[in-house]
Amino acid sequence: MISKMMTIRSLLPKYHDIIEENGTSVYLNCKKVPVSFEKTQSIDDLWNIHDKAASLFNVQNTIPSSSLLDLKIELADRLFQACCFCERRCGVDRSKTHGICGVQESRIALEFLHYGEEPVLIPSHTVFFSGCTFHCVFCQNWDISQVPCGIIIPPKQLALTIQQRKKEGARNVNWVGGDPTSNILYILKVLQQLDCNIAQVWNSNMYCSEETMKLLRGLIDIYLTDFKYGNDDCAKRLSSVEGYVAVVKRNHMYAYHDGEVIIRHLVLPNHIECCSKPIMDYIAANLPDAVVNIMAQYRPEYIAYEYKEISRPVLPEEVTQVREYAENLGLHQI
Ligand code: SF4
Repeated sequence: MISKMMTIRSLLPKYHDIIEENGTSVYLNCKKVPVSFEKTQSIDDLWNIHDKAASLFNVQNTIPSSSLLDLKIELADRLFQACCFCERRCGVDRSKTHGICGVQESRIALEFLHYGEEPVLIPSHTVFFSGCTFHCVFCQNWDISQVPCGIIIPPKQLALTIQQRKKEGARNVNWVGGDPTSNILYILKVLQQLDCNIAQVWNSNMYCSEETMKLLRGLIDIYLTDFKYGNDDCAKRLSSVEGYVAVVKRNHMYAYHDGEVIIRHLVLPNHIECCSKPIMDYIAANLPDAVVNIMAQYRPEYIAYEYKEISRPVLPEEVTQVREYAENLGLHQI
């Protein structure tokens, strides 16, 4: 558990500065980083300009005629036409059809002030997109993640809603689903319309492509990640994804160097040795300052009853075993 010496505030200092109005959400600064580019330039040229500007992150006092956020939108628009927002890399033109995630245009299933997230995040303005890059057999939100549903909300309208939710007490915007990854272009367009100082939370399974992780750089204050599996076989069997471990580890390293990180791990029955413990070992070795939430609420949902080892609720002793293991590794649990 987080010790008295190491408080949640000291682990997430920039986030606390924003919610205490002593700091600025990084997305607002991204709008003040000037860049020069032409829409006729090749995508390789645009990435070169992007990577240099994102690394220097030279924030000016005024909004430039062309900003790093504008460049990110141009890049995301190019990727949208042959979609590689996640590592499924379907290559479909999303203006015409959807890929494996089921998302063509972004649809919002729900948005509201959420009080059920981690205490440091609530009240959280949670924006639930429909569709998902994963197909988890135990999904608790399967009715929105596996079914294209929800409504299309113009970016400007959602930006106004976010501003209203902030007035109602929201500490952050919590981009989730399903998964937000398929919706990165839409999210960038909302941020372009938004100008209130509110922390941005990327709440994701972290199966994003490297391109998406680069687009997120300089926009996200808190990466609220979901680290599910400790090996590729479990990921393939239960979420139908390939190459899970390498992708998610890579993206956690991006997140850790770019922002502040809260890692969620849902303990699955009978997956302590193959999944929970290797994940905790990895965090201890590579992400020592991340906040870790070991979650105990697993129950069989959706089609989990068809998978014998996860066809029952998780046992309290299984969760305790993982929490003690994490504690012995010195992880910062909440
Ligand atoms: S976001 Fe959707 S369409 Fe794009 S690569 Fe991933 S699964 Fe395919």
